[in-house]
Amino acid sequence: MKKKSANIAIVSNNSFEASKAVNLHHYDISSALQTTLEFNELVNIFSNKIKALIPHNGFVYENDEFKLNINKGIVTKHSCTYALKVEEMQLGSLKIMRRQRFNDDEIKLLESLLCSLIYPLRNATLFNQALKMAYTDPLTKTNNRTAFNDSLEREIRLSHRNSRHLSIIFFDIDHFKDVNDHFGHECGDIALASAANCIKDVVRSSDMVFRYGGEEFVILLSDTNLDGANTMAERIRSKIENHSIAYGMDVIKLTASLGVSSLKGNDTSESLIKRADSAMYCAKEKGRNQVKLESIAQIA
Ligand code: GH3
Ligand code: MG
Ligand code: MG
Repeated sequence: MKKKSANIAIVSNNSFEASKAVNLHHYDISSALQTTLEFNELVNIFSNKIKALIPHNGFVYENDEFKLNINKGIVTKHSCTYALKVEEMQLGSLKIMRRQRFNDDEIKLLESLLCSLIYPLRNATLFNQALKMAYTDPLTKTNNRTAFNDSLEREIRLSHRNSRHLSIIFFDIDHFKDVNDHFGHECGDIALASAANCIKDVVRSSDMVFRYGGEEFVILLSDTNLDGANTMAERIRSKIENHSIAYGMDVIKLTASLGVSSLKGNDTSESLIKRADSAMYCAKEKGRNQVKLESIAQIA
């Protein structure tokens, strides 16, 4: 590759030391990267901005903490991969791919340009960690009620627009007050977290689990009709029934009652929730430890 002379500017004002050389490419990239806190946008901006300096055919950015795999372009024979971190904070890994091998000068330049990406990635990480915390229930590590309200509105909009199925499952632990009364509140907390893990173990990665309040959870199943949601609810019920929680010398067993509803053409979030909630109460009335569907709930 033809070696390019660096674009150097001498900046002298209050915010920079006099005579300090600032590479305009770095400055340009850094400025562009300061415009967003979205991982997706950050890595795309970075790839676009370095393209003229280091031509490449594609990239892959992976971040385990936020379950991200962002890729663009094609997979090629040659690549450079960097595990990105700053002050022990993991920022994911970036792989830059190209048909031809990268030469030493290009690698040096790439590594220098990567410095512009590190701090914007750290800011995105801090922002997304804060966002995650605001949307997470600290005891059960499921999404909280605020997250549920936002997600449900979004999923209903998407399902109406794309004529796709959407179902919800209301889940309420049976006689949970007894667990607290017999074994204490600390044990109740452990049992709650354990029940949440059972639900998370059973659902698909596309399903979303929320703590609705107290000992109640709600599961949002996109692209799932009433039948599919019923099957999932039954799997959750069975998992809870067959699960044992060890607490000191005691073994605690739980059961749960579940109600299922599926989105109709004129549904709002309130009407969809109301039908699942009524179905769940019907399951309670019918003896607990069972699943009830909205239609059965209405005619029962
Ligand atoms: P039902 O089968 O009718 O649902 O009976 P229940 O005992 O589960 O229902 P009830 O609404 O009477 O009691 C719910 C209990 O859940 C009471 C409350 O103390 C307990 N609970 C709610 N949130 C928590 C929590 O975060 N930790 C603990 N340990 N207990 C909780
Ligand atoms: Mg309850
Ligand atoms: Mg209960």
